[in-house]
Amino acid sequence: MGTPKLGNCSRCGKLFLRIRNFCDECYQKQEDDFLKAAAFLRDFPGSTIQEVNEATKVTVAQIRQFIWDGRILVSDLPNLSYPCETCGNMIRAGRTCSTCIETLNKLASQINNEKNEINQERNGKTGGYIKNYL
Ligand SMILES: [Zn+2]
Ligand SMILES: [Zn+2]
Repeated sequence: MGTPKLGNCSRCGKLFLRIRNFCDECYQKQEDDFLKAAAFLRDFPGSTIQEVNEATKVTVAQIRQFIWDGRILVSDLPNLSYPCETCGNMIRAGRTCSTCIETLNKLASQINNEKNEINQERNGKTGGYIKNYL
């Protein structure tokens, strides 16, 4: 770990001694949120994420973050699904839904294909040939 530096809190923007991504206040708020959400889900394990949000005022994005962090286990909560980070479809695993993963994969392979084409063009002209003889 390096020496802590002053930085802006990634949540409230306050200047603080950067030992984590957000300041003590926001950290405390997150822990309070976690306790509230976890307590509610312990009492009502059949709740949906909206019900947790309405009852505890913890934001859906924050609850989703707890799930991603492994602090709330969806496997014990049959109705707890959360919105896909990209399109908002309700999912129960990962950060994005399978449709978005597919779209992303397609985009990625498109970009790779374009890169390959550019490389092939370069190699075909001069680059590859000259390099071999230098
Ligand atoms: Zn903060
Ligand atoms: Zn999606």
